[in-house]
Amino acid sequence: MDGLKVPVSAVRGIGEKKQKLFEAAGIKSVEDLLHYFPRDYEDRTKIHCLKQLPSNEKVWIRAMVTGTASTRYIKRNFSVTKLQIEDTSGKGWAVWFNNPFTAKGLRRGVVYDFFGKAVVKFGETQVQNPNVCETAKQDDNYKKNIVPIYSKSGKLSTGDFERAIYNAMGIAEGKFDEIFPHRVREEYNLEEKNVAIRNIHFPADYKSIERSRHRLAFEELFLLQLSLFLIKSGYQREGAGIKLCASDKETEFLSRLPFTLTGAQLRVWHEIKGDMESNKSMNRLLQGDVGSGKTVLAALAMVKAAANGYQGALMVPTEILAEQHYITLNSMMKDHGIKVELLTGSCSAGEKREKYRKIQQGEVDIIIGTHALIQEKLEYRNLGIVVTDEQHRFGVRQRAALLNKGKNPEVLVMTATPIPRTLALILHGDMDISVIDQMPPGRKEVKTYVIEDSLRQRAYDFVAKQVKEGRQGYIVCPLIEDSESIEAASAAEIYDSLAAGHFKDLRVSLLHGKMSSNEKECIMKGFRDGKIDLLVSTTVIEVGVNVPNANIMLVENAERFGLAQLHQLRGRVGRGNYQSYCILINGNRGSTAVERMRILASSSDGFAISEKDLELRGPGDFLGTRQHGIPELKIAQLPRDINILKQVQRLAEEFMDEKAGFSDQERALVMEKSKLFLSENNFPGSTI
Ligand code: ADP
Ligand code: MG
Repeated sequence: MDGLKVPVSAVRGIGEKKQKLFEAAGIKSVEDLLHYFPRDYEDRTKIHCLKQLPSNEKVWIRAMVTGTASTRYIKRNFSVTKLQIEDTSGKGWAVWFNNPFTAKGLRRGVVYDFFGKAVVKFGETQVQNPNVCETAKQDDNYKKNIVPIYSKSGKLSTGDFERAIYNAMGIAEGKFDEIFPHRVREEYNLEEKNVAIRNIHFPADYKSIERSRHRLAFEELFLLQLSLFLIKSGYQREGAGIKLCASDKETEFLSRLPFTLTGAQLRVWHEIKGDMESNKSMNRLLQGDVGSGKTVLAALAMVKAAANGYQGALMVPTEILAEQHYITLNSMMKDHGIKVELLTGSCSAGEKREKYRKIQQGEVDIIIGTHALIQEKLEYRNLGIVVTDEQHRFGVRQRAALLNKGKNPEVLVMTATPIPRTLALILHGDMDISVIDQMPPGRKEVKTYVIEDSLRQRAYDFVAKQVKEGRQGYIVCPLIEDSESIEAASAAEIYDSLAAGHFKDLRVSLLHGKMSSNEKECIMKGFRDGKIDLLVSTTVIEVGVNVPNANIMLVENAERFGLAQLHQLRGRVGRGNYQSYCILINGNRGSTAVERMRILASSSDGFAISEKDLELRGPGDFLGTRQHGIPELKIAQLPRDINILKQVQRLAEEFMDEKAGFSDQERALVMEKSKLFLSENNFPGSTI
């Protein structure tokens, strides 16, 4: 163990200057150094000849330059540089993309070693983006193996890393702790740790790289998962949180609701209540399909807090939603003497000052708002519960900021995105999870139709007919990843053509994310009040809007959306007494797109839909663009390693369970490692 903790300066060849460079790269100890894994490898066990290149593999070629480099610009920022080369077997090309420089440094008539990807196409043999060195200057004895390629860091080159790691191996060989008991390694077919470390850096063949990578990724994901479970058990510690009492206000509130809770709502309410009445901290994720009735549970929890003298804050991602929740909750609370306040970015400075004062002095019980709730200047009198709605729109940091406004407040996170269990455990493994898996009675299924472009006019006619009968509808414009501006522009275009064309007799309005919140609010109000028939919109309406008279959801280019997202959109209709319709215009006849649309049309179960989406598209959507708070991984890659993730979850659960048959010693070792993992990685809000 100690051999690993020594500073990198103990490694031969690392003097004071180099040590600084390594430290700048976050590498302090020998262990850190050996955990700096190659990003790729070059196979230098065999020189390939140009005539027989294995396409799409990394190869080593020894060839003479026979031409001069020529660069062609395909687009402004995309160039292709080609250089003719020749070996004893034949001719070929070295090709670089967006790199005109390497080729310029090579001389005609000189033999070089090229390491790059072989591509054989249109009868042409290429080695793409090769690293090059002059053959005469190569030390052949040194490089007769599979060579690791390390990412550069500052002034440190791959060669610097290779040498340092080679020398560090001498100090550290055999000294890594094996955290997995023998039988676990057998069961999951895991390489021994020390062997894995050696082979990941100095592999004899590609098979041992794969085996080592698998082992190290397994360990990394395991420690991540276990540390999340440890955070969770920290919240569950006795005395970690506020202990609230049961109160008459809750029962009274329940009895005055215009409906009775569904069985699922009741079950979840008891889970929430249990958390709040214990002296442990509540840290609970509430998952429930759109329309399953999460709001009322948030309201109940905040009533309970208020009855105990605590304030509750409900943070939502958009002003539209904040306003809507405010209206709902305010009408629910009025009769109970509970004061509700709305706080958003568009309050005037004067209003804000007054609201801040009321909140600080405890004149309000429930505060609903957007990010405005975490403004630095805002102080709460006695924040006892923090609820966030539509959680995936908030970063972990924002949630943590709200938490810090109180002293160990209870936390309830609500989401309508039905995240499959595997992902929920890694995204929210620090939380308890409650699921509302039942809809309030009397919901009519939304009829879903997938159509192609050719039926668009008929779909529009149908929409117009519904409007003539007094209904309202949404027309959602294509999703344009990463560009709200382009998305807004395209929505505006669609709006112009529809408002002047097919729907010129109807009251049509446009809503997109680039409008001021005032404009947005004004339009939403018009829509709610029935003054607007059709809302042409970007996905800003995805989240939470509730207009029971709207019964049509038409989505353009539906194939661009995730299934879970389409399901959310569909949830905007079917909220009143009218038969509702979801019309998906599919612009892609590819089989996956068609299959995805079919799933949506045939199911109304959000969980089933998201599991299928996960199968078809992989977890990229869940783990990719959304902020998630998972630390950067050194070797594991999600979604690629999703199957490893499933295995480690099972194993981590076993380790958490004292009765699962691991010895105290075995458990102590993994717990210690995972706490170390936790301290080395930054999980906001974590406490153990
Ligand atoms: P979501 O889970 O999408 O946030 P909401 O909380 O907005 O759903 O609830 C959707 C609608 O269902 C609201 O109008 C709400 O009043 C109603 N609702 C909630 N629970 C019940 C219930 N148990 N019975 C009947 N209607 C309910
Ligand atoms: Mg909601």
